[in-house]
Amino acid sequence: MNNKPTIAVIGAGLGGAAAGALLQQAGYPTKVYEQAPAFARLGAGIHLGPNVMKVMRRIGIEEKLNAMGSHPDYWFSRNGMTGEYQSRIPLGEFARENYGAAYITVHRGDLHELMVSTLDQDNLFFDKRLVDVDDSGDKVVMTFADGSTEEADLVIGADGVNSRLREKLLGPEAPIYSGWVAHRAIISAEKLKAYDLDFEACVKWWSEDRHMMVYFVTGDEKEYYYVTGVPEPDWNHGTSFVDSSREEMRKAFEGYHPTVQALIDCTESVTKWPLLERNPLPLWHENRLVLLGDACHPMKPHMAQGAAMAIEDAAMLVRCLEEVGAENYQQAFELYRTNRFERASRVQQVSHDNTWLREDEDPAWVFAYDPFEVPLKQPTSQ
Ligand code: FAD
Repeated sequence: MNNKPTIAVIGAGLGGAAAGALLQQAGYPTKVYEQAPAFARLGAGIHLGPNVMKVMRRIGIEEKLNAMGSHPDYWFSRNGMTGEYQSRIPLGEFARENYGAAYITVHRGDLHELMVSTLDQDNLFFDKRLVDVDDSGDKVVMTFADGSTEEADLVIGADGVNSRLREKLLGPEAPIYSGWVAHRAIISAEKLKAYDLDFEACVKWWSEDRHMMVYFVTGDEKEYYYVTGVPEPDWNHGTSFVDSSREEMRKAFEGYHPTVQALIDCTESVTKWPLLERNPLPLWHENRLVLLGDACHPMKPHMAQGAAMAIEDAAMLVRCLEEVGAENYQQAFELYRTNRFERASRVQQVSHDNTWLREDEDPAWVFAYDPFEVPLKQPTSQ
């Protein structure tokens, strides 16, 4: 008989999907609740470093991702105006040999679809927006927007930057608007053939206060993608993104290198997203509730490690439950926090500063990390 506790994961984003898959694999009766009625393939890409690919190996989708993604040999940083190289960070074979897995770039929608497909589909519930939790008894009672209630022994808040679970633990507080936006566009590589320019597999174009990160999102290199960081003092749109335009992009990147101008010329549609952050939270868990990913450490995306941190969290959380025994869940949650807080906070800070790989540096502390193998630090007694 399975005497493992029942677990509810709130949110089937990248962190929630990873947590759900790893918990189900480890034999925890786990249900995943997602507010969206379904997922769409939004136009965006994502980097998956070797640190994430090691978790994907455990989930059982590493090979599929390797086949699906683009495998850049380098991360290049270049001066946005002159094109001069500021850093050449070896990835490709070097990453596989030195960090233990590949570094790939993929379409976010393809990744998400694949991750969600690894969940037990009978225990994945869409259109379920959590509105309240009552953690005062020996089960947590969750109430959803449709009026239904469900129970679980433990509840994981993987519900993103505006987490309802975080609000329950720490009270209402809007995330901080960083003062920067990100434009995102996918470009057909076919269009780029008209230019006598080199479109590199993974390159970040920098100037003082803004940048454009560019990479392929499919292994066949048919879809090229850019994501920017551009200062914009206020965000008053009240939505998670708005449409932008070629004209706006031309203005934002005036004077940039011809390669960047070509990307803007080839842009058919582009969206603009506010970049939100929080300062490190004083509380990651209480009683039967625990947070992971953007629910507890949202960050600017400038290290391409936000989802990576959510996925590493999921792996570490499951490891700690197994290590301590889930009946001692409060101890397991504290072990999890102890082993994630410093790393997630450091990644938040470097992402905020937007210095990652701008010049040559050793990225091993990020890429070589393996949440399943890293020696565990024990909590100091409270
Ligand atoms: P989310 O992905 O936000 O998922 C939360 C889920 O919870 C959503 O599906 C949501 O619908 C659901 N939800 C919310 N509230 C409720 C509720 N009340 N009830 C039920 N469900 C709920 N990261 C990288 O690692 N690499 C990159 O290259 C990268 N690029 C980025 C580019 C941009 C422009 C941005 C903005 C972010 C980028 N990130 C990147 C960061 C990454 O997107 C986030 O850190 C990551 O999505 C966090 O995952 P999560 O599962 O914690 O939260």
